[in-house]
Amino acid sequence: MITTITLNASIDRNYVLDEFTVDKIFRCEDFSVVPGGKGINVSKVLSQLGEKVCCLGFIGGYTGTFIKKELEKQDITTKFTTIDEESRTCISIVSSDGSQTEILERGPKVNERELESFLSTYDKILDKSSIVVASGSIAQGINTEIYYDLINKAKNKGVKFILDTSSKYLIKGIKAKPYLIKPNKEELEDITATIINNEYDIIKASNKLIEMGADNVAVSLGKEGMMYINREYTYKVIIPKAEVINPVGSGDSTVAGFVYALANNYNIENSLKLANACGISNAMNKETGKINSKVVETLIGKIKVERYKNNSGREINEISDF
Ligand code: ADP
Repeated sequence: MITTITLNASIDRNYVLDEFTVDKIFRCEDFSVVPGGKGINVSKVLSQLGEKVCCLGFIGGYTGTFIKKELEKQDITTKFTTIDEESRTCISIVSSDGSQTEILERGPKVNERELESFLSTYDKILDKSSIVVASGSIAQGINTEIYYDLINKAKNKGVKFILDTSSKYLIKGIKAKPYLIKPNKEELEDITATIINNEYDIIKASNKLIEMGADNVAVSLGKEGMMYINREYTYKVIIPKAEVINPVGSGDSTVAGFVYALANNYNIENSLKLANACGISNAMNKETGKINSKVVETLIGKIKVERYKNNSGREINEISDF
């Protein structure tokens, strides 16, 4: 079984409008209300791919009850820790000119007792897990070292850990040597304090993160695809153009595709194809964390993966600038 961790779960309200500007009233008939938070998005996509998945994290109040019920409707096992404060709501407004506005609440505060209860659930669930995926920011009241501790616990039991977070959470977590991290371009720039202009820069920055502890670094690049780097090789994933409706959650869908492939022993090239096909398919859908299996299958046939030795990019023939 695959376990996902969402330390700051949410309800995601997504509004699709013809146009959106500030200081006006908009009436909206086209909207969705779904459980959200990066780990939950990963769980939803894993479940659509047919994988058994269990969600861990914190939920509270009316929002928390909704999250749990909706996930269970989708055949996803939940072992959330219930907290006193209300889980958050996040709003995304997408308009047909391609603009995307997001309002993200900070989320509830977790107390000592609730954290202890979560850690005890985590210890028990580790014995039944083949892979753990932790994604996103953390709720208030939790020490920023949490991912470091969770990774160590998993590694002690021989369970692979995938960490998709950013800033200080990633910098601290990476030291526990996760199997995979998935920064996007902006997150990579932020944690390595560099500016990324081209593929050389991505390889250089990713090599820094490998030195810091990551086994594998998947850098997602939106419509430009992905680069995947480890000590031996650099893989460049070239993706087709897509009719994008809502790319929120594409990174999470990519992680889900990769985790599915890892759990089912795909080779790296096929893992990257499935991962990116899931990311693209999510972007072609209105709802966050939603893929279409037929579309995924078609996309896999159109994605190309090139492999080079990881010698800091010297072998890549055509360097793409961003
Ligand atoms: P994140 O959501 O973490 O910022 P990205 O935006 O890089 O992640 O998206 C993850 C993956 O989803 C990309 O690597 C790509 O495969 C796919 N994707 C995202 N946006 C687009 C887009 N506009 N067109 C085509 N594919 C996309």
